[in-house]
Amino acid sequence: MTSPAIATLGDLRSSGHVHRGVKTEIRQNLIARIASGEPSLPGIVGFDDTVVPEVERALLAGHDIVLLGERGQGKTRLIRTLVGLLDEWVPVIAGCEINDHPYAPACARCLALVATDGDLTPVAWKHRSERYGEKLATPDTSVGDLIGDVDPIKVAQGRTLGDPETIHYGLVPRTNRGIIAVNELPDLAERIQVALLNVLEERDIQVRGYQLRLPLDLLLIASANPEDYTNRGRIITPLKDRFGAEVRTHYPLELTDELALVAQEAAVLWPDSTHGAPLVPAHLLEVVARFARGVRDAPQVDQRSGVSARFAIAGVETVAASAVRRAALTGEQLAVARVADLPCIVSASRGKVEFDDADEGREFEVLEHLLRRAIAETYRARLAGLDLRPLQEKFDDGLTVQTGDTVGAEDLLGQLGPVPVLSALLDRLEPDGIGEGPAAVGLAAAVLEFALEGLHLNKRLAKDSDGSRTIYGA
Ligand SMILES: [Zn+2]
Repeated sequence: MTSPAIATLGDLRSSGHVHRGVKTEIRQNLIARIASGEPSLPGIVGFDDTVVPEVERALLAGHDIVLLGERGQGKTRLIRTLVGLLDEWVPVIAGCEINDHPYAPACARCLALVATDGDLTPVAWKHRSERYGEKLATPDTSVGDLIGDVDPIKVAQGRTLGDPETIHYGLVPRTNRGIIAVNELPDLAERIQVALLNVLEERDIQVRGYQLRLPLDLLLIASANPEDYTNRGRIITPLKDRFGAEVRTHYPLELTDELALVAQEAAVLWPDSTHGAPLVPAHLLEVVARFARGVRDAPQVDQRSGVSARFAIAGVETVAASAVRRAALTGEQLAVARVADLPCIVSASRGKVEFDDADEGREFEVLEHLLRRAIAETYRARLAGLDLRPLQEKFDDGLTVQTGDTVGAEDLLGQLGPVPVLSALLDRLEPDGIGEGPAAVGLAAAVLEFALEGLHLNKRLAKDSDGSRTIYGA
């Protein structure tokens, strides 16, 4: 990452550099991206046919955007991805607090500097990663945070309050020539919304009673919960008008999108683990993704607040952690997650879901039911038509298998003995292969336990559960 070598205004001019506004820059880079067939917003999952085309059109139109969606729909991630549409490097006047372009100084300092130094005015380069400002709006977000305030140190140094250089700039002017994101916009107090609008629309800054003309060049992206945004009076009308585009986000529409998100985000590869990187088998990822979707659609869950994509991600991380804990307890070489690790996501996830008032107190029950349903759905989707009688028959003569989140894979396999349907189970549940050694042992135990639980949920196998100990059969 090396910046261009040009270091003065004169050299910048003779290089033929052209000054583009930030929206023009993004529009032209986006057109090039689309024309080349590359994804315009790489890493954004599940929005290809819905949100992405709308965002592209808004950017091409040069509009500021408000993204409307419930929590955990990837709004912030999407906004951050837009930074990739900026030029890699842009020139600024060296030392300018608001990133003035060398051709168009705006602050008092740079106006004076260019007037005296001319072509020798020093130029610095800013990487696109530094041209992004993000603010989570809260009711106590101040004008100082966003716009600016009088800097007491500069006043103490003898500058007068009327001197523009006594201003300490807030996030918006400091993000000049970049992308400014305001998350949860409706939480911004009305007078702060007015101040924000003044900066963007009227191009002037008002701080403590005096006014400063400052033409800023910004792309504004806001996000909001749809209900808060449309609530009368939460957003001042002229600010609403400023957004040329309202884009509605959504949770993953397809199970495959949910799975892709979980696989992309869940931090289950721990290089520091002495028990190997924990392995969450594909069929368990599917259970967790189906569980998250079930919770999201459950009538008992408050639909207004939604269930974040983080819900499934944290679930997978908890399942992996449970497997690692077992491996550490039993001395297993590799932690492979199993059905026995799933119940822990119920207690870990309870605080991440808001229930309707009528169902308060029943949270555990509802979540446990939804988890069982997710296991049953995955069982049907993956194992339909597979004859599991050879496994079931093992229990006909009174075999019992004791398992649980602290029972190791070899222990479980030893209790079951040879199982003729094992390779068919592995083919169906782990089609991407199972490796060898500890991974194969762990996965064999995982698919067998999954089959036992599926048989139980289909009322074909007895199960007795008491806390973390489970007995199949008898
Ligand atoms: Zn400046």
